[in-house]
Amino acid sequence: MDCIFCKIVEGSVPSKKVYENEHVLAFHDIQPSAPVHILIIPKKHIPTMNDVEAGDWGLIGEVHRAAQEIARQEGVAESGYRLINNCGSDSGQVVFHIHYHLLAGTKLGPLNA
Ligand code: 5GP
Ligand code: ZN
Repeated sequence: MDCIFCKIVEGSVPSKKVYENEHVLAFHDIQPSAPVHILIIPKKHIPTMNDVEAGDWGLIGEVHRAAQEIARQEGVAESGYRLINNCGSDSGQVVFHIHYHLLAGTKLGPLNA
């Protein structure tokens, strides 16, 4: 399957990993839009939020749990951070393997900027 994030999970495409467990991986965004910009993904290939099935919600919860831990690890839990999922065309989603952006390290601008 031609999915860049699956290739990162497999290790055939390199990434700067910040967190990994059996089901979840997190790594630095290649084109950061904040001082801290980390992508958090389930290792399972789920294209978008629309494709999350009944049995996947625990996995999505694990992604959120990872975000909480990564925020602490990166030292931004107290200063604050933003967790964003883009879903589909209008959101600007370009990689169709579900992921959350963790943005932090500065005062973030308005959501729709
Ligand atoms: P989206 O718009 O789909 O929510 O965001 C996809 C993100 O993935 C973008 O911020 C983009 O910079 C990042 N990205 C795309 N390809 C790669 C890659 O090969 N490695 C890493 N680390 N990030 C990537
Ligand atoms: Zn994938």
